[in-house]
Amino acid sequence: MPLFLRQLEINFSQIHLFPNLPMLRFRSFISLILVLVTTFLVSCSSPEVAIPTTYTPEKIAELQVYIQPVEEAREKLDVLRGLISDQNWVDTRTWIHGPLGKLRQEMLGLSRSLLPKDQDEATRLAREVFGHLERLDASAKERSLSAAGVQYAEALKDYDAFLKLIPKAS
Ligand code: ZN
Repeated sequence: MPLFLRQLEINFSQIHLFPNLPMLRFRSFISLILVLVTTFLVSCSSPEVAIPTTYTPEKIAELQVYIQPVEEAREKLDVLRGLISDQNWVDTRTWIHGPLGKLRQEMLGLSRSLLPKDQDEATRLAREVFGHLERLDASAKERSLSAAGVQYAEALKDYDAFLKLIPKAS
């Protein structure tokens, strides 16, 4: 018999000499490990917080302070349309930086208060609106009616898409 097989046989016989003692120790060691692992896992996992997928009437009421200025910007955007079609470039630029100047922060602030599933899209649209208003400002500076018209239409499209993400009180 090769030497390693003989050693294996000896090892087996040793195990059978003390069948209970090592096995018991081994079992209690395993259960201790299990207790430790379980305790660790439980302490790591935070209690499950349900992610809201709908707006409660209370939440909508709470959001009004953010929603109102964003919805009111619609009238300011209508005024801007008139200034552009009049090719009143000075007032167009003043209007973008003045009355519409806060819209970026208002839209971004509202984005963060929306349901988690809508936040990314709302933030993207808020940035789109402002990208277009910045390009509109540049077009006004260059007195380009066609370029200004394109940027205005794009800004309005993104603004309207943003409004669709806002919950309506029913
Ligand atoms: Zn856009």
